[in-house]
Amino acid sequence: MSSVSTPAAIRFRGDVHSSRADRRRVVVPRRHLRARVPRAGAESDGDKRGGDDAEGQWPAEPPTWMVVAEKFAATAGDVARITKRAMSRRMGAGTSNASEAPPRRRKRVAVLGSGWAAHALMKVADTDLLDVVVVSPRNYFLFTPMLPSACVGTVEFRSLVETVKVSNPLIQYVEAEVVDVDRTRKILTCVAPRDPYADPATSSCMPSSSADEDDGREVGDGFSEASLDASLEASLEGRETFEVPYDVAVVAVGERPATFGVPGVRQNCVFLKEIGDAAALRRRIVQCFELASIPGATETEVRNALSFCVVGGGATGVEFAGTLADFVRSDLAARYPVVADKAQVTLLQSQATVLTQFSAGLQGAAIGALEGAGVNVRLSVRVQEVRSDRAIIRNKEGEIEEIPFGMCVWSAGLDSRPLTERLVRQVGSPQRKFQRPRGSKKLAVDPWLRVVGADDLMALGDCSSLYGAPLPATAQVAAQQGAYAARLLNDSVRLGGGGELTSPPAAAPAPWQKKDALGGPLGPFHFLSLGLLAYVGDDRALTQFELGKSQRLRYEASGRFAFLLWKSVYVTKQVSFRNRVLILFDWMKTRVFGRDTSIF
Ligand SMILES: Cc1cc2nc3c(=O)[nH]c(=O)nc-3n(C[C@H](O)[C@H](O)[C@H](O)COP(=O)(O)OP(=O)(O)OC[C@H]3O[C@@H](n4cnc5c(N)ncnc54)[C@H](O)[C@@H]3O)c2cc1C
Repeated sequence: MSSVSTPAAIRFRGDVHSSRADRRRVVVPRRHLRARVPRAGAESDGDKRGGDDAEGQWPAEPPTWMVVAEKFAATAGDVARITKRAMSRRMGAGTSNASEAPPRRRKRVAVLGSGWAAHALMKVADTDLLDVVVVSPRNYFLFTPMLPSACVGTVEFRSLVETVKVSNPLIQYVEAEVVDVDRTRKILTCVAPRDPYADPATSSCMPSSSADEDDGREVGDGFSEASLDASLEASLEGRETFEVPYDVAVVAVGERPATFGVPGVRQNCVFLKEIGDAAALRRRIVQCFELASIPGATETEVRNALSFCVVGGGATGVEFAGTLADFVRSDLAARYPVVADKAQVTLLQSQATVLTQFSAGLQGAAIGALEGAGVNVRLSVRVQEVRSDRAIIRNKEGEIEEIPFGMCVWSAGLDSRPLTERLVRQVGSPQRKFQRPRGSKKLAVDPWLRVVGADDLMALGDCSSLYGAPLPATAQVAAQQGAYAARLLNDSVRLGGGGELTSPPAAAPAPWQKKDALGGPLGPFHFLSLGLLAYVGDDRALTQFELGKSQRLRYEASGRFAFLLWKSVYVTKQVSFRNRVLILFDWMKTRVFGRDTSIF
């Protein structure tokens, strides 16, 4: 056990600096390939943009057909690159690790995170041109949309992940959390995850959101320097740090569950964001049935143990509630026939409807399907406090009610990570100027996904906010941004200067008309929405297909046919052939043998 490497022992190709006592001391000199970029204001459309507070769509959105054609061509290019990489590795060429190519000729791109945005970037990045190092506390990509299915055992955890080393064997990976970015020295300060063998306080190797950066701060604590510094101090307490140098850092750290300051949430709820959360939920659900089955349990004890509360009527909450109701009705009812009829899944939602991103018709269909699957849908209720065995809510009529539970799942929203907030604060006034809504704690990025106010940072996915055209925090957006960022970096564009852009005057020509704004062939990023999907229980789903903003290419469906579409899309969207096969086998296994209810 003691042989497990500690951060101090890490020597990272002579580039990462182990630093125990003095993490400011740079041991290995690093060539600083600062992008030779004229400030964007001097060359790009940015210089024409007067005014600093213009709102609205910027850059102007090109027609849908143009975005589709652009995505199609870009994806074909990506597929060709990935195929070439795979073939050259198979034929023996290019089997070298990234470090064997002369590092000086390649730009060092540090990617923070291994989620949707980072994964797409890793796949598309050209390692002949870029020296990519991924720093993330988890060494795998996670297919989050199927996490609710993993909580009940419809699919296995390992079917939903792909390790970073498989995603792209030619990149470097460091298992660590980035806690600070020194932009003057172009250094990431990192800490390795706590070692579960050496640290008895850490019981599992699986990252979970419950343990995730629990710095005691809640949404609304704002940008107080003291609270951010205190959180940094707390996260570094007793841990060793080391450094990773970069030329360009791509921040793709996602978000963490928000508790909105509701007392008791962190202590008494389970979140649903990481594999560790899904594993905890899977154990707890069956444990509740075992507790309810203990001889001598009173009727009230049985009902309380089998009361499952799900807080949040967004996609995650709805899908989990529907999936859990299926599990209870099919597998658990057969294995715990004496108590199963006392089980109740309750969905608590603060708004008057669920799934607000879907059309009104589909929202109604979702509520109907959930109720049909046996879920008690409570709308317009606010959770005031969560105790160890009950949720205190204010109901529609304004009365206080108590809902006893055996398990409470909190999926009520997301909040920025401390690192993102620290970067926003570090960049300072340019960020504040571009924050929409004001006071947002996401990194504001320009249409090339460059962090406003920083010439060495890009930000992608949930932790970023595209100025002028905020996008939803979804996997679809993150993946498209990751692939776009990789293409931009592959083109060796003059990246720096992103921060110099200010908002455009109304008459400015749209940057998509001026493709080479950054000195490369790529225009700014455009998101192409392909629609929404949600599982609502009892083999029913909602699908809302669309192509960009075109209303003519819109198709809505709910029910069993929509569930078939849901299944086909999720199998197709798996990130590898291996994952596709595993998911199909898992579904088949569940159909034939049911879900496994053993507790590990
Ligand atoms: C249960 C669930 C279901 C969902 N279903 C859908 C769906 O059906 N469709 C859809 O479009 N979206 C869905 N989403 C949302 C989607 O998962 C997110 O929008 C997406 O993951 C965002 O991608 P990202 O790359 O920005 O962040 P993430 O995927 O969250 O990745 C963040 C990465 O950063 C790492 N990290 C965190 N802190 C640090 C740090 N300090 N240093 C370095 N690395 C760090 C994390 O370990 C992780 O690897 C779902 C989310 C959940 C939780």
